[in-house]
Amino acid sequence: MQTFNLFENAIDSIDHGLQHLSDYPDELSLSDAKQSIMNLINGLDLLILEKLRSLDEEAIFENKSKSNTLKAEEAYKRIKNELNEEIEDWEFKAYAILKRLRNNAVHYEFSFGDDNIKNISLLIHLCLRFIETELDMEIEELISNDNYQRCRRVLKDLPFGEIIEERYVDAIEADIYAYSYSTKGMYSAVLDAPCGNCGREGISIAEDFYPYGKCVFCEEQYNIQACERCGHEFDADWEGVQVHEDGDYLCDGCNDYYLND
Ligand SMILES: [Zn+2]
Ligand SMILES: [Zn+2]
Ligand SMILES: [Zn+2]
Repeated sequence: MQTFNLFENAIDSIDHGLQHLSDYPDELSLSDAKQSIMNLINGLDLLILEKLRSLDEEAIFENKSKSNTLKAEEAYKRIKNELNEEIEDWEFKAYAILKRLRNNAVHYEFSFGDDNIKNISLLIHLCLRFIETELDMEIEELISNDNYQRCRRVLKDLPFGEIIEERYVDAIEADIYAYSYSTKGMYSAVLDAPCGNCGREGISIAEDFYPYGKCVFCEEQYNIQACERCGHEFDADWEGVQVHEDGDYLCDGCNDYYLND
């Protein structure tokens, strides 16, 4: 009986995922996109496990009897600090989101929207990163030349940096929404005004969400103050007035109110 080891199994999945890109860029049917994404996710999961195995042979098993291997997310937590090149949390989050979609797809209708090829590009990027940077192998030597050309084609058309950024923004927006939802809409995690640096509504006004006054998207720090009278929060470098040296502020509206009083 022919068997695959973990790494070969990963490469086989990736190879299969790339095979479904034979008609790209002329065409990418929903079915091919789905098969490609499923197989690439599978391959990436296995690469993560393989990385853990390369650090500690035993660590990939969930229990002593070695009957189950860890979930990729669990394995990732263990290798995170051992990576040759750090993967930013948000990069990994992009992949976690795809997995969530994948898991839904199994139970519900399969749909990655119009983003199929972008998702594929992201997955290829992460797979290559594990193969080359973490496992020290050359992708060209592992897959067919046709598939290698497909990889390059996708990455050339769709620079993964932008794709990851899109996914990153989606992920944070979901977190912002979840924060508000968890307070039954009573509190918002962010100021209802765009960040002057990145243009997104990401300036934190909830210390338990992100450092107060910092944009969650671009890290720009603002001098956000809350009006003593009405509680409205604003950028005190641009609006409102400081009414006490110890740091009490009034928003423009309330300041006008007092001035006209
Ligand atoms: Zn297939
Ligand atoms: Zn910003
Ligand atoms: Zn006010």
